[in-house]
Amino acid sequence: MSCVFCRIIAREIPAAFLYEDEYVCAFRDVNPVAPVHILIVPKVHVVRVDAPEVCELGLPQHIFRALATLAREEGLQEGGFRVVSNAGRGGGQTVDHLHFHMIAGRSLGWPPG
Ligand code: AMP
Repeated sequence: MSCVFCRIIAREIPAAFLYEDEYVCAFRDVNPVAPVHILIVPKVHVVRVDAPEVCELGLPQHIFRALATLAREEGLQEGGFRVVSNAGRGGGQTVDHLHFHMIAGRSLGWPPG
């Protein structure tokens, strides 16, 4: 298995897990760009956010439940946070397993670079 996120999900590579249900999990990004940087990742290997399996497998409700739970548990509701999913090399994606970055804890500029 060569996908780094599949290996994390299989517990072959360590990660700081914060959330898990039947379909998704969340762990801290190893190279955080902000004081809070969490990745929400489906357990099944789906490449990116526009893949047909995302809706076919009903992943959105699990992803949104995860981010709402994390926002509450990590104390992000008042200060706010950003959710980003990079798609393709031009979109900044470097790991080809769907994931949502949840970033918080500092002032975030717009538009992103
Ligand atoms: P992206 O560039 O949008 O595909 O995001 C990939 C993210 O995965 C980056 O923010 C990396 O820091 C993160 N990442 C890569 N390897 C690991 C790992 N072993 N554990 C946690 N996060 C990782």
